[in-house]
Amino acid sequence: MPFASRISHLEAEGAYIVLARAQALEAQGRQILHFEIGQPDFDTFPHIGRAAIQAIETGQTRYNPPAGLPRLRQVIAEEAGRQRDLGFKPEQVVVGPGAKPGFFFSILALVEPGDEVIYPDPGFPSYEATIRVAGGAPIPIPLREENNFSFDLDAFDACINERTKLIILNSPGNPTGGVMPLEDLMHIARKVQKYNCWVVSDEIYARLAYDGLSVPSIASLPGMMERTIIVDGFSKTYAMTGWRLGFAIMPERLAERVGLLITHSIGCTATFTQIAGIEALIAPQDMVAGVVAEYQRRRDRIVDGLNAIAGVLCQKPQGAFYVFPNVKSFGLSSKEIARRLLDEAGVAVLAGTDFGAGGEGYLRLCYAASMEVIEKAVEKTGAFFKTVEYSNV
Ligand code: PMP
Repeated sequence: MPFASRISHLEAEGAYIVLARAQALEAQGRQILHFEIGQPDFDTFPHIGRAAIQAIETGQTRYNPPAGLPRLRQVIAEEAGRQRDLGFKPEQVVVGPGAKPGFFFSILALVEPGDEVIYPDPGFPSYEATIRVAGGAPIPIPLREENNFSFDLDAFDACINERTKLIILNSPGNPTGGVMPLEDLMHIARKVQKYNCWVVSDEIYARLAYDGLSVPSIASLPGMMERTIIVDGFSKTYAMTGWRLGFAIMPERLAERVGLLITHSIGCTATFTQIAGIEALIAPQDMVAGVVAEYQRRRDRIVDGLNAIAGVLCQKPQGAFYVFPNVKSFGLSSKEIARRLLDEAGVAVLAGTDFGAGGEGYLRLCYAASMEVIEKAVEKTGAFFKTVEYSNV
């Protein structure tokens, strides 16, 4: 019996495939250094956990409104607005179990079969998957390594047209850590207005930015909020990946429709999880600042360490917790290098091509790992590459 064509293209995420292989090696007694999964290595801050436990103990365990608890929507509107210098109404906020539903349901609500959707390549794999589930035509845009892995604007200009319904942006980006410069966002915004498109701006890493940088949002540009869906959440900033809590902010009319999609699919997000989310946002944010400072130290160490390896070229990303070193000089595919790094050196990384064809020649490492693990990984990676024929020599 055949399945529906809308799901036939779906594939597992590379990170989970590599994690399973790494764990199989560990089961054989090998020591593996983990850089494959994109999540914080520290635990959820204790005050957030306590708020959830208290909510369960006081019986806050029933259904709640599909688009989220009114108090959480209000706090998100205030906080997310303050961070981006924008005014949001609580009615514009839709809460969901993670950031993923924020773009999944928005794309489902906007894309008709055959509509073209522009997205970054390399980029988060769920974008292409979701575009295809919605019946849209995925249009990948290459990124420019020398410009913070922002869009190649010439390629973007060549691709946007009357059939383009939606543009997906992700800054700071997964897998590159790159932050799109304001000028690029301005260029994209002009085209988006000319061709009357929507924008999904995935800003899940906006709070993980380094060197004092404040990440610009395309939604802040004149006339853009009325056509933008901001996707954000708690997973990365508050180390809550397993809690499943995120949100999207969009024009009120669209929020109503997305709320209905939630009504008829997931129903609502766990009540006590949302109460923990309120606590995360209203409590002092110094713990977040401490974590960001620590990530910055690790970023500096891993970038310096990788660049000290002959043949490896690693940009210093300004956000997220990923580095995306260029390993083209070794003349091997990304997949081959990633596989051998795991098998021969015990360092689990992802191939750039796990994020699209545009990732060929790169690796992705998530540096949410202790400094000690980073030091060891740099050393083992350096030793590994010495054994690989260095094609430039
Ligand atoms: N967007 C991007 C760019 C991500 O990297 C991730 C997580 N890897 C998500 C969204 C999903 O976030 P959540 O776990 O909150 O659904």
